[in-house]
Amino acid sequence: MIYLSNQQLQQIHRHAEMTYPEECCGLLLGTLEGDNKRVIDVRETENSWTNEMNENLPNIPSSNQQPLSKKNRFSIDPSVLLEIQKEVRDRSLNIIAIYHSHPDHPPIPSAFDREIAWSDYSYLIVSLRQSKFINIKSWKLKENRHFEEEIITIVA
Ligand SMILES: [Zn+2]
Repeated sequence: MIYLSNQQLQQIHRHAEMTYPEECCGLLLGTLEGDNKRVIDVRETENSWTNEMNENLPNIPSSNQQPLSKKNRFSIDPSVLLEIQKEVRDRSLNIIAIYHSHPDHPPIPSAFDREIAWSDYSYLIVSLRQSKFINIKSWKLKENRHFEEEIITIVA
């Protein structure tokens, strides 16, 4: 289960709406107690995807048959990730989740999402239609590299 405040959810929704029609991405920092994750900070990051990155990945076609771009791919710069990893260590927190958006697509992990996913993190996906927020779901990678939905609980 992952716990977020309404304000934190609103921040993610806004970020996704502002970057539409491109995918947004970011990290959720917080605490971890067994399977319970509490979000403390939402950290918006830049989508640093470039098509050259695809050369280092297995050939995964885009689900909508559109050319690869920030509209269907996202990437968080490794140096940004490293900096935030340092910060959470100093604050005795964890990176508990990565979020990104699916412009005009359901909040279901794509083949690409599965390929790049780490089992340490939850994956929150925001679905938008015509730049407006529709839905958000959280996913957790299981042993067989299948995603299982994780319950999002809104706390005050
Ligand atoms: Zn995705």
